[in-house]
Amino acid sequence: MSWMERVKKNVFPVSNEKYNIRKALEEWIYEGNMFDVEVAEETCELCDQPNIRYQFEIVNSQNDNSLLIGSECITRFKISVIDEAGNKLSYEDAKKKVGKDRSRLVTEAKEKSVLNALVKLASTDNEFDIENFIKYFKERKAFTPKQLALLVWRLEKAKIDFNMSHFKLTIKRNREKEQLLELEDWKLRCIWDCLSTSQRQFVLREKNK
Ligand SMILES: [Zn+2]
Repeated sequence: MSWMERVKKNVFPVSNEKYNIRKALEEWIYEGNMFDVEVAEETCELCDQPNIRYQFEIVNSQNDNSLLIGSECITRFKISVIDEAGNKLSYEDAKKKVGKDRSRLVTEAKEKSVLNALVKLASTDNEFDIENFIKYFKERKAFTPKQLALLVWRLEKAKIDFNMSHFKLTIKRNREKEQLLELEDWKLRCIWDCLSTSQRQFVLREKNK
């Protein structure tokens, strides 16, 4: 079945228009409902593309049916996009909103993965004071050099699966910059993968002074 045939097979049964695919697609709108199902196992209900993790809900303006689809399909099929105030966006603005919504989901997913790792660590490591870390992370979405070194070391020791790149470092404050430069080499190596490019450049520049 061709790509367009698949879209027709999926759209006509839930649209009022049953023959003209362009008209049928015009019945659908995206209003900002989106979900992270956490594993990429869903299928796009519009084009049948597998391995969808971030689902975007489109609803039929004439019969209230809904479909959960991949974000690319919203722009690909020029599905109408409505902003919070209920205005229909231009194609370019629609594309921007979908991109922004998607990156919000991705950011939230990364934050969730950090919190999950902390919770797992707390359940195996009695000395780990999770409350402080969670509070700090929720406020700043990142950790200080000392916090990060401790976390990475403890997570590895407890053999907890975690994604290093989701753990961000903050050195906005001067004392955090100093803290980073004062870390022992082995601790710095421990957290190196958490550093952004500019943070790495900062360390290399300062250490070579
Ligand atoms: Zn699709």
